[in-house]
Amino acid sequence: MFQFHDAFLTIKGIYKYERFLKKSEHFSNDEIKHWQAKWLSDLLIHSYKNIPWYNSVFKIHELDLASKKPLKELQKLPILQKEEVQNNHSSFCISEAYRKSLRFSTSGTMGEPMTSYTSFNQWVFEQGIIWRQWKNAGYNFRDKMAIFRSYAPQSGQALIKKDRIRNWSYFSVYDLSEADIHFYADYLKKWKPKFLRGYPSALNLIAEHAIRNGWKLPSLKAAFSASEVIPVNLRENLHEAFNIELFDHYGQAEITCMFHECEKHNGMHINWEYGLVELLPSSEKDVFKIIATNLHNYSMPLLRYDTGDLAIGFWKKCSCERSSLTIDSIRGRRDDYLIMSDGSLASPINLYTYFANFSGIRKFQLVQEIAGELIIMVEFHGNIFDEKRLELCAKIISDLSSKTNLSIKCPIHPHFLNTIQGKFSAFIQKVKYVG
Ligand SMILES: [Zn+2]
Repeated sequence: MFQFHDAFLTIKGIYKYERFLKKSEHFSNDEIKHWQAKWLSDLLIHSYKNIPWYNSVFKIHELDLASKKPLKELQKLPILQKEEVQNNHSSFCISEAYRKSLRFSTSGTMGEPMTSYTSFNQWVFEQGIIWRQWKNAGYNFRDKMAIFRSYAPQSGQALIKKDRIRNWSYFSVYDLSEADIHFYADYLKKWKPKFLRGYPSALNLIAEHAIRNGWKLPSLKAAFSASEVIPVNLRENLHEAFNIELFDHYGQAEITCMFHECEKHNGMHINWEYGLVELLPSSEKDVFKIIATNLHNYSMPLLRYDTGDLAIGFWKKCSCERSSLTIDSIRGRRDDYLIMSDGSLASPINLYTYFANFSGIRKFQLVQEIAGELIIMVEFHGNIFDEKRLELCAKIISDLSSKTNLSIKCPIHPHFLNTIQGKFSAFIQKVKYVG
């Protein structure tokens, strides 16, 4: 049922693109202000009437819902923190949100699951905006797309799953050993996809494999990535391996704002039709907190939400024709990094490469619960004895302790965790936020 409804909303999203979003990326500043004010005004009125949290908060901060300047009214509200939403979850939702919305879950920075609801109309905007980014990169309906995300096969299921309607192939990001990537490479060479899409770490493994083994995919036009910090060498690797560019995309499970990269690859454009973004100063120079308000989510509106993510650089105009402004880049959310004992951040991407090259591993998962420590869950191929298991775990501990400066634990009987609904995550950050 969900699938059919999802496909229906995607089609509505494409229609929204054709009728509105195709033109709106060239709107003048006045037009942008007009639409944002209209949507925001409607959202504030809806929130006051239907969302218990805002009914009381608007009274305390004396919002004037009849004002012609709703943005000014919005800014009377304090910044909303994730913990407030988690602790008062139901008062941020319309009644019967589960029936009138799509539902998403995330592990979040606190390690506590958080459920977000999004109204159908918001999802239509979301699909339309993603479609627009793909169109701008040359995508057409039923172009073959190889997807390295969202698919976690159960035991006994194939590593590659096909979506015949869209003409997409999903590859398991649970299974990224050298042998698995070899198998994926053979499939890709025969299948000839036009686009790659997925976690940057997985795309990097594919590109590195292609460079090492000298295979090419001349059919490819571009790659789309989201959800993770981009490894420093990913763009060069995609260039060298397949002669394609990467189009990055940023959003969050809380559904408050989206940014995307255009064909100039010169920063991240705000999708102004989706959410309002305020950049507030952080403790670092030229680094800003991303505070966002989705303009269409009537199921669970989050107003002036602190995404926990940081923008590098302030608003600029891009050299492309589009009117929406850009920031230089987004410093990956804290959830994407390993946290060292001194509080500094490090990317876990290199560890993925280590496991990809470690023969005998069927799957792995990194879980961090304490700064400076890392738990590594590993499942080995075949039925091996505990002595062998112990030996392999000891090797991993010894290799990675010196490589990472982290205190490594590798239990011989691992317990894999699932975080985001239906998605497997190779890295789960559960360290409670300090400072
Ligand atoms: Zn641009």
